[in-house]
Amino acid sequence: MADYDVIVIGAGVGGLSTAALCQKAGMKTLVIEQSNRIGGCCSTFEAEGFHFDVGASVVEAPQAFNELFKRLELNIDDYIPFYKVDPLYDYCDNTRGIRFAIPTSIEGTAEVIAQFSPEDAKAFIKFAKKYTPRIKALMNHFFFAPSQGFTDIIRLVRKYPGVIQALPMFLTTHQKIVARYFKNPDVLASMAFQSFYAGLPPDLCAGLYAIVGLVEHEGIFYPKNGGMIGIPNGIKKAFKEMGGELRLNSRAVRVIVDRGIARGVELWDGTEITSRNVVGAINAKKLYIDMIGREHIPWYVWRGINSMKLSMPCPMVYLGIDYEPPLRAHHTLTLTDPRVMNDYWSEYYLKGKLYEKDGEPEVMGLISWASKIDPRLAPEGKHVITHMGLAPYNLAGNDWDRHKQKWIDQAIKTIEKYIIPDLSKHVVYRDMATPKDLERMLLHPGGAVYGIQTDLSHMSVFRPANKSKCIENLYLAGASTNPGGGVCTVIAGGIITASLIEKYSK
Ligand SMILES: Cc1cc2nc3c(=O)[nH]c(=O)nc-3n(C[C@H](O)[C@H](O)[C@H](O)COP(=O)(O)OP(=O)(O)OC[C@H]3O[C@@H](n4cnc5c(N)ncnc54)[C@H](O)[C@@H]3O)c2cc1C
Repeated sequence: MADYDVIVIGAGVGGLSTAALCQKAGMKTLVIEQSNRIGGCCSTFEAEGFHFDVGASVVEAPQAFNELFKRLELNIDDYIPFYKVDPLYDYCDNTRGIRFAIPTSIEGTAEVIAQFSPEDAKAFIKFAKKYTPRIKALMNHFFFAPSQGFTDIIRLVRKYPGVIQALPMFLTTHQKIVARYFKNPDVLASMAFQSFYAGLPPDLCAGLYAIVGLVEHEGIFYPKNGGMIGIPNGIKKAFKEMGGELRLNSRAVRVIVDRGIARGVELWDGTEITSRNVVGAINAKKLYIDMIGREHIPWYVWRGINSMKLSMPCPMVYLGIDYEPPLRAHHTLTLTDPRVMNDYWSEYYLKGKLYEKDGEPEVMGLISWASKIDPRLAPEGKHVITHMGLAPYNLAGNDWDRHKQKWIDQAIKTIEKYIIPDLSKHVVYRDMATPKDLERMLLHPGGAVYGIQTDLSHMSVFRPANKSKCIENLYLAGASTNPGGGVCTVIAGGIITASLIEKYSK
């Protein structure tokens, strides 16, 4: 008799969602987490009275949350109350005297765009009209459906013919889609940068991501209960109320495999825990290569897993400041021409170089001001801002541990140049998580944000499957498997994985 029906490795949002649904289905479920905190990249830590979000700073696609709590038969507001975030972004570049905020409403956004280009404003309405039904088809059907193989895709298309309209978006790039609609350079840049949410520049990112900007117009949200950790805390609450078990400070080092069947896990201290099913809600490469091993995996799967690319890391800077910053939105960024974004990838990222503009180091990125919406995240009169940047894991001729303080200085200098002129005078707390720190903290190889890269060759049937194809009773959840990375997306993945476990456990 096994100790558990299901063991989930990793208490990120993907692991916790899977665990809550398995427990709800009557399976005795244990979650093991190597660190002393839940949530992984969607979490919050406290330092000197400031509460900083580790990585994720907002969520979109409420469908995933609603579906999870519907299946748990619970009222989401009792577990994860949300603020609505509006405007979506403030774009600011003091060097050009340009500043405009994009609201949630489609009509409001068209009015803002019209100030730059009436043609682009009309094009935005057309863009929204064409792609919103496709978003709905994808969100309602594709998002929660397994794509273990081509037969799953064919079955889905037969059942929901509307999905087929969305398929061409997989076959083109983000840049090609938005360039068809928008001509003004600033408007185009405001529609193209979201490709980096998939960890890729616009001309390499799948066209599907062109709709991320539109999905945000359905609303973006921030938890009311203590920063982004409010999300995993809410799911954990539901899981524990139903009798689920969670162990912190418990690192899994091996999946016990016997004659091709997963039988449990071994912890760092040698303890073995048996289970009828094992879920790896961690990086898929790490799971297969380090925790299962060559001897249990057919050569072609081993080769495939080894050849998968890791997604891009995002260095995070955490700043506590002693005044209310002159920001106007939860998220602020400086627009960057899509050509620069594409060049950044080939000329800097792939060569291990840090970005420079006119010979000066610059730190491109997105500022998040969480204490605007929830003042309890900072001591009275003070605020928290985080800066999410882009950079390679391996630095040519440099090392992240050596470069850390310089990166923080350069981030502050870049923000001063474009957005908040006197920021450095107000910083009373500063720290950062480099890609190396994220690797150490969360055991993310290469500090990869979404586990496995999210280009066409690593999506859907080409991504590591939610139900392992080579080890019986082994399942995957989280950003490395389908449908991919992002908080709402790993919840959708948790729904898929838990339903597969239920189906195959019967
Ligand atoms: C900087 C950054 C910014 C982001 N911004 C956003 C955003 O604004 N909105 C959004 O929707 N998404 C965002 N994302 C993506 C999103 O946060 C992630 O895709 C999602 O949270 C991943 O969830 P997960 O469950 O796959 O894994 P993770 O969050 O990676 O959690 C995995 C957990 O497993 C644990 N673990 C690892 N190995 C072991 C082991 N051997 N034994 C036990 N435990 C183990 C880790 O400690 C961790 O807690 C961001 C990510 C980052 C890094």
